[in-house]
Amino acid sequence: MESKNVLVVGSGISGVASALELANAGVSVYLIEKEAVIGGHSASFCCKATDICSKCSACVVSDKVKEAVIHPQITLLTNSTIKGLGGELGNFHVEIIQQPRYVDEERCIACGLCTEVCPTDPKAIYPPFAEATPFSYILDEGLCLRFKGERCDLCRGSCPTKAIEFELKSKERELNVGAIIVATGFDVFDAREKGSLGYGRYPNVLTGLDLEQIFTREGYLRLPTNGKEPRNIAFIQCVGSRDEGHGYCSQVCCKYAMKLAGLIKYQNPDTQVTIFYIDLQTTGKGFAQFYENYKESIRFVRGVPVEILQTLSGELEVRFEDISQGKVCRDTFDLVVLSVGISPGKNSWDLARILGINLADDGFFDVRDPLGSNETNIDGVFVAGTCQGPKDIPDSIAHGIAAASKAMQVLAESAIQRRGNQGRH
Ligand SMILES: Cc1cc2nc3c(=O)[nH]c(=O)nc-3n(C[C@H](O)[C@H](O)[C@H](O)COP(=O)(O)OP(=O)(O)OC[C@H]3O[C@@H](n4cnc5c(N)ncnc54)[C@H](O)[C@@H]3O)c2cc1C
Repeated sequence: MESKNVLVVGSGISGVASALELANAGVSVYLIEKEAVIGGHSASFCCKATDICSKCSACVVSDKVKEAVIHPQITLLTNSTIKGLGGELGNFHVEIIQQPRYVDEERCIACGLCTEVCPTDPKAIYPPFAEATPFSYILDEGLCLRFKGERCDLCRGSCPTKAIEFELKSKERELNVGAIIVATGFDVFDAREKGSLGYGRYPNVLTGLDLEQIFTREGYLRLPTNGKEPRNIAFIQCVGSRDEGHGYCSQVCCKYAMKLAGLIKYQNPDTQVTIFYIDLQTTGKGFAQFYENYKESIRFVRGVPVEILQTLSGELEVRFEDISQGKVCRDTFDLVVLSVGISPGKNSWDLARILGINLADDGFFDVRDPLGSNETNIDGVFVAGTCQGPKDIPDSIAHGIAAASKAMQVLAESAIQRRGNQGRH
């Protein structure tokens, strides 16, 4: 039977934008998310405003996520992934598998007693990030002693609202939908792959994602080693972009690095900030002006460092080729931030296989029109956001809205065609 419902896979900002566009037009939407919380990467990003808004768009995400959660036309399924697909445009049958949360989100009052008594290190039960939706504690099966066959029951025993249930099993269900929007996003480049930059080995080497989350959690930046304010910080651009394995620009790293650098300078104008870059991507509304405002107070060095060493005193020695001066130099910093880029999602291959959609050579989902449409090679299956290629938050929202409009248009056309065919028989 023909269905007008739409399934959106992935609840990052592009999936949420698609879901809201459809729901506001009266379409019933299933929004499925593989994680326990919704909003994707950008839900944990910090506001980068100084005395003026830096237009980083982080606040837009939390507003839209809250709107989606309470929208009557949107059915949200967390901890859920697609297992199989049958049917066609207008009448897809999608098999969904939903893993148990183990912590009932209605009953969890986020008191933290479960984390306190959990004996594992790191803790197997913990709160999500500050702005997470739903804000219910998360139990990690991979860390929990109970799931390793031990008899531990400490968290359940400590819970005042009896929110913890170990016995829950995964559930399978079938959804009947007319169209599918894939909005499964990206993976942050794993900086450990660039071993010579010391991430994971030197505690004062962080990534841009770490900084986003530190500012969200703490509101300010301190050195991981001694809790003191950093005095001399380097940002290294294009870590996991524009290299042998990633022949593309991630589109977002120059912007977020400069905005984070601006926030650091705003909080403490005496902090020295250096940005090492190949070439700065300053497109985007107001961004060229942003660069103009900071080009005197931030040191910009054209040249990407290839190696970082930690000295005996704990400082980080950065070796780089200064392209504009044509010489190899070294400089020391107390904190280095690697501006990690956008990589294709590791599970994209599996999803491509289940849905029958194509991946492009760069590992992102392919579209029919190389100039950036939402249509895949399968009628009725669309892509939205960074699963199709690097984008910032505003572009992901625009792509999500475009996918929703296309899905509604195609569903309407297919319904007219079916009615026409029935009339002829
Ligand atoms: C370090 C860093 C900082 C950034 N800072 C900024 C900034 O300040 N401003 C800005 O505009 N942009 C910024 N960006 C870019 C921003 O993160 C992206 O534009 C945005 O997150 C894209 O949203 P998305 O929905 O496409 O993907 P994602 O945010 O990756 O969301 C995808 C969602 O899909 C889910 N999912 C994946 N696979 C499945 C599956 N099989 N089934 C169900 N669910 C699935 C994921 O769990 C996730 O929730 C930054 C990027 C990085 C790496």
